[in-house]
Amino acid sequence: EAPLRSATIAAWMAEAGAAVRAHRDQLTQLDAAIGDGDHGTNLVRGFDAVEQALAGRGEDAPGRVLITCGKTLVATVGGASGPLWGSAFRRAGRSLDDTAEIDGAQLAAALDAALAAIQELGAAEVGDKTIVDALAPAVVALRTALGAGEPLVLALEAAAAAAEEGARATVPLQARKGRASYLGERSIGHQDPGATSTALIMRALVRAVSR
Ligand code: ADP
Ligand code: MG
Ligand code: MG
Repeated sequence: EAPLRSATIAAWMAEAGAAVRAHRDQLTQLDAAIGDGDHGTNLVRGFDAVEQALAGRGEDAPGRVLITCGKTLVATVGGASGPLWGSAFRRAGRSLDDTAEIDGAQLAAALDAALAAIQELGAAEVGDKTIVDALAPAVVALRTALGAGEPLVLALEAAAAAAEEGARATVPLQARKGRASYLGERSIGHQDPGATSTALIMRALVRAVSR
């Protein structure tokens, strides 16, 4: 299987940017229901800035590219999702050192590191109706599929499907973290915006690796 280089990370960010632009209104409407209605604009601003930050950069190690992405998100996204995804990408990048080529196992370890960073910063567990509800099952699905010897693209496809299922499963939950938790029981019956965008970001990774 071909190793992944920094171009794949740049492609991931471009696909994620395209996805959040295409779903901007949906994400904003989900956030208007249980938050402050800025999740779509927050992520579009962040991924626009990430694409600008990566444009014109030479070949750099994938980990370095991810660290730049994370710093850019922290600097440009004011909402909760900026620091959370910012720390996630920085930690994922640091887990890769300066290696120029990464394989599926290293990508899985980087996503593990991303999830750990989000949970350290946000203290959310599965079931709290957050990003973690989509990202945690995605990481498990990726590891399971790679462990079963699936090719990376199929393993990532399983991860994206698990993230989508995890996002849908937030609908009946009561939010226990973030702004939506202020609503108490009134947060029940709405899909979490952050889990929804997390599924888009995982689907974007499938597209980037299939390119
Ligand atoms: P803000 O709530 O500051 O306006 P966003 O609207 O950009 O930020 O992001 C909201 C999303 O952030 C929520 O839908 C939720 O998925 C996620 N989120 C909030 N707090 C946490 C947390 N502690 N851990 C994980 N994810 C969280
Ligand atoms: Mg918001
Ligand atoms: Mg906000």
